Amino acid sequence: MTILHYVAADAADSSPSITDWLTLVVAVLALAGSVWAIIYNRSSASSARSAVAEAKKAAAAAERVSQSEIDRDHEMFRPPQIGSEAFSLEVNPRTKEENLVLKFTPARTYRITGQSIEGDSHSPLSCPLFNPAGVPVRIVVDVLRPHRERSAVKELRLSFWPPAQVDKRDLWTCRCGQPLESHESAHWEVTVPVVTPPRTPAEHVYSA
Ligand SMILES: [Zn+2]
Repeated sequence: MTILHYVAADAADSSPSITDWLTLVVAVLALAGSVWAIIYNRSSASSARSAVAEAKKAAAAAERVSQSEIDRDHEMFRPPQIGSEAFSLEVNPRTKEENLVLKFTPARTYRITGQSIEGDSHSPLSCPLFNPAGVPVRIVVDVLRPHRERSAVKELRLSFWPPAQVDKRDLWTCRCGQPLESHESAHWEVTVPVVTPPRTPAEHVYSA
């Protein structure tokens, strides 16, 4: 007997039997059970949904962390800026010409190529491709006196990459997805404005 049947019975007979009372209790318990089951199912469905949403959020956060780690590494591996102090004048003992030289010491091992920019013309710089960490890189930028007082080269563009497998030493890499091969475009590009340093007493050696 359902609750409606009971109510109908109750209206017809003002003194319900024990059976009717028991039926009512069972019906109420059954209803309570159904309501609880509905609430429980809804809440477990919604908690399952929120668990999925939480997992998705956590995965997205983990991805962001690893991307930010990659970006941080890319910046950490970036070669340092090269300033005017890196330029010096050297007299070639054989030709007695004065050379404008760029010298810097990379803290990491890189593959390096470079170009000198003079007006619209780009000329490749003579520079070893593989440059181990801690070993000074020396690049002759220009030949000055007796031909010219100051260099007409405006800037140098140096391209850097991590070492290649074939270098077989000091291997490391950058995971950022930018080119890793030295025939591709630069992984890092460093622009160095060219400065002809003032002559030091060393010029007397040249004049002598
Ligand atoms: Zn990178």
